[in-house]
Amino acid sequence: MKFISEYRDGKTAKFLAQKIAKTAGNHRMTFMEVCGTHTMALARFGLRRMLPKSLRLISGPGCPVCVTPNGYIDQAIALAKRDGIVILTFGDMIRVPGSRSSLERERAGGCDIRVVYSTLDALDAARQNPHRQFVFLGVGFETTAPTIAASIKTATEEGIENYSVLCAHKLVPPALEALLAGPVELNGFILPGHVSTVTGAKAYRSILERSQVAGVIAGFEPLDMLEAIWALTKQVASGRPTLHTSYTRAVTEEGNTKALATMDEVFEPCDSEWRGLGTIPVSGLKLRQAFAHFDAALRFEVCAEPAADPPDCRCGEILTGRTLPAQCPLFGKKCTPEHPVGACMVSSEGTCA
Ligand code: SF4
Repeated sequence: MKFISEYRDGKTAKFLAQKIAKTAGNHRMTFMEVCGTHTMALARFGLRRMLPKSLRLISGPGCPVCVTPNGYIDQAIALAKRDGIVILTFGDMIRVPGSRSSLERERAGGCDIRVVYSTLDALDAARQNPHRQFVFLGVGFETTAPTIAASIKTATEEGIENYSVLCAHKLVPPALEALLAGPVELNGFILPGHVSTVTGAKAYRSILERSQVAGVIAGFEPLDMLEAIWALTKQVASGRPTLHTSYTRAVTEEGNTKALATMDEVFEPCDSEWRGLGTIPVSGLKLRQAFAHFDAALRFEVCAEPAADPPDCRCGEILTGRTLPAQCPLFGKKCTPEHPVGACMVSSEGTCA
């Protein structure tokens, strides 16, 4: 199959694994896979087993559901309980535990909370029922923000007044800077392929140059990942860290300029709270003044009780590479994919899941 089988060839995978082992030698190296889809690919294809023991791979904060703090879920639930409001969300969010409940539980209790597959579905729902207010949960990275920006432009053009967005968009580059300032010593990043198709490689260049940390933008097939790890290993072993794109079939230096322009027209950067990382300066997006009437938090003056994390949950440490899932006392006992206690157990991209 074109673009699948050629990236899953076992012989080439073994060849790359040998190259990695030879280049790494006895050097101890720690690389972070920033993106949840990379974490999933490493587990799915058993790639960690192929790597030398001196090489440590840790997961980062690249699962959008996982980094969304409890307080945001609490706000969405508070809105869902109001008369006349319908909450629209992508599927993963529905199971994420908030401080006291989840959207799934509130839906079972009678709140109108619907899963949609795109912002086009969300707009359709609003068009079809003009007497109710439809609030879309705007969660995710640079990959989803352009589509949400486009939906707000469409709503403006069509005069759709019963559509709004509860914004919690996050930006990846500022999170990398926060991680580099944290306690975990990193030699390199496996940078997210999907996000980079939008941002372009240039989004990371100055950060990596300043910090002298290696970075490779990688695709999601096994050979993509092994090639990226080999490139990182070579950079670190040679003492010449740099930014390299191995996912060249999808990522350019400039990124998707049309998507970036749409995002920039509708959103502006703002400080944002991340689960595990706290508030990171200019790491989120809020609606520009011209579109502020589409901000659900302003339209409905939403307030919720103070947020609280579940006792013993270690999601914050997992998302910053300080702890491995099995070190959480709840892992596989009280917290399972069927009954998640923390956000990292919900999405298939979550490290604990
Ligand atoms: Fe959080 Fe559950 Fe993972 Fe523990 S096992 S860190 S509670 S998601």
